[in-house]
Amino acid sequence: MNDAERLWNPLHVPIERGSRERPHPTVAAARARAEQGPAGEPADLDADWLREICLAAGVDDVGFTALATPGLEGERDYVLEALPGTCTLIGFCLRTSRDNLQSRSTSAANRDVATTQELAHEAARHICLELQRRGVRALYPASGFPAEIHRFPNRSWVVSHKLVAVAAGLGQMGLHRNVIHPKFGTFIVLGTILIDRPVSRYSQPVLSNPCIDCGLCVSTCPVGAIHANGGFDFDACYTHNNHHELSNFAGWVEEVVDSADAADYRRRVTPSETLSVWQSLSFQPQFRAGYCVAVCPAGTDVLGNFLNDPDGHARDVVAPLMRKPEYVYVDTGSAAEAHVQSRFPHKTVRHPRRVTVPEPEIDPVPERHDQ
Ligand code: SF4
Repeated sequence: MNDAERLWNPLHVPIERGSRERPHPTVAAARARAEQGPAGEPADLDADWLREICLAAGVDDVGFTALATPGLEGERDYVLEALPGTCTLIGFCLRTSRDNLQSRSTSAANRDVATTQELAHEAARHICLELQRRGVRALYPASGFPAEIHRFPNRSWVVSHKLVAVAAGLGQMGLHRNVIHPKFGTFIVLGTILIDRPVSRYSQPVLSNPCIDCGLCVSTCPVGAIHANGGFDFDACYTHNNHHELSNFAGWVEEVVDSADAADYRRRVTPSETLSVWQSLSFQPQFRAGYCVAVCPAGTDVLGNFLNDPDGHARDVVAPLMRKPEYVYVDTGSAAEAHVQSRFPHKTVRHPRRVTVPEPEIDPVPERHDQ
């Protein structure tokens, strides 16, 4: 910065601090408006009006739940850290393009998830600006990433969209641990908006779980993460499906660092894997497999086709994914490795480098927000 830049340009009006006797003009105007406005507690937002605002912004379904709803206790401190005064959570969903997600083309599936997430952010932002215009505080956390990543491996998301969606009546969790909407099925992306106002009417969870317990997600998951008895092997799912994310990405970095030369690097990481990392870094983190979602026939929009032609569903959707030759990432000696070897011997087992990220020392959890 030179001397001329340190001085105010003559175009600038000098900054003036107001006083009690002579307040700043905008302070005086705001006080005058406040004196004319309604006194007392802010009114509840009308649920029907709010629903219309949300649908007009582009979401496909929406529901409202109080932050105090039993089952959401674990969300409270994280939510109040992000937006102090939050008392209502707006849960919403957007449909995904079903044929993209059911395709054996992983890029087509990943493209649609990423696009729908961005549309969810755009819709949420539109809703927040509309509420802001009306004096309501409103915040939308990311649908996926970015997250409060400094807290990893502790919880790094602001709010659990799945829990909010269930509490707000958008669906129930299926055996595959994704929310299934009664109409759209599992082909949805979820989002949440935090607001500082009560709503005139809250939604209720759907009473019947749309999951029909067909077991297709169990048989299609390449690493056997979904168990027919309701169990779920999170580590197996994370190791394979999220191979390019979080601590798994740190493993790739360490392979690069430890490689003696290019030949050594290619022994550790194949050229195809290097290109996959490039793709994830250049566009969006690429999931390895959303097969549990692809094959799920639940939801009234989806179920009819499956019931009319289960053989066609098996031939066109399930079998191509099960047949697909591909890398499958598992820990050495794990149940997931045994599962791939016995159920999918035509797929190629890969052992990714595991990195243990230590507990964060700085700001590992949100502050307590006592009642
Ligand atoms: S594939 Fe079948 S068992 Fe799995 S979540 Fe969907 S409906 Fe439930």
